[in-house]
Amino acid sequence: MNVLLIEDEPRVADFIDRGLRAENHGVTVGPTGAQGIDLAKTGEFDVIILDLMLPDIHGYEVCQRLRQDGIHTPILMLTAMDALEDKIKGIKIGADDYLTKPFDFDELLVRMEALVRRSHHFAPNSNVLKVADLELDRDLLEVTRDGDTIKLTAKELAIIELLMGAPGRVFSRTRILNQVWGYSEDPLTNVVDVYIARLRRKIDTDGRKPLIETVRGHGYRLKAPS
Ligand code: CA
Repeated sequence: MNVLLIEDEPRVADFIDRGLRAENHGVTVGPTGAQGIDLAKTGEFDVIILDLMLPDIHGYEVCQRLRQDGIHTPILMLTAMDALEDKIKGIKIGADDYLTKPFDFDELLVRMEALVRRSHHFAPNSNVLKVADLELDRDLLEVTRDGDTIKLTAKELAIIELLMGAPGRVFSRTRILNQVWGYSEDPLTNVVDVYIARLRRKIDTDGRKPLIETVRGHGYRLKAPS
C-alpha cells in the first residue's frame, strides 16, 4: 500500500519508513503539516500516519483541514500524549485510530492494515443501502434520512453501514468493535456506546421514529422495516 507519513522527527520517520519498505509498502514523508496536507490532497495514498507535534501546524488541525476538504483517506494519529481526552479529541475531529509513542512497529502495521481494509469496504462498486427512510450511498459516502443529508465521520459511517447491512440483526459491542475498529477489546471506555449515542443524535432526531435500537444485554440493531 501507499503510505503518507507526516512526521518531522527524522529518527522516527526513518524508523517507520524502513519498516514499511521492508514490508513492500511505498512511503512518502511529509516533514511539515503544510507539506503533509499538500501531499494528502493528491489522493494517492491508502493511509496517512500523522504525528501530532509538527513544527508548523498541529496534527489536529492537519486532520481537521483534510476532512473539511473532503479527503477521506484513513488517518492513524501518532501521539506522545497518553491522556484519554487527547485520543478522544483526535477521533472526534476525524482521525480513525491512534497509537501512543513509543509504539511497537508490528502494532503500527496491524492498525494500518486494518484501517485500509475497512476503507476499501467503501470502495466504489455502487450501491445504496436503504432501511426505512434511511439511505447510505456507498459511492458518495453519503447518508440521508428522509432526504436530509446527515454528516457522519468515517467511523460512524462504518457502524451504520454494518447495521444497515443486516436490518433487524443484533450486533454485539464486541462485534462492532472488531469490525469497525479492528480491536478485540475496548481500548477506551464504552467506545461503541459513545459512537452509537452520537449516531442517534444525528439520525434519530427531530421527532423521527428511532431506528437504532438497544437490545439489552446483547447490543444494537437497526429496526427492521415493518
Ligand atoms: Ca513530531
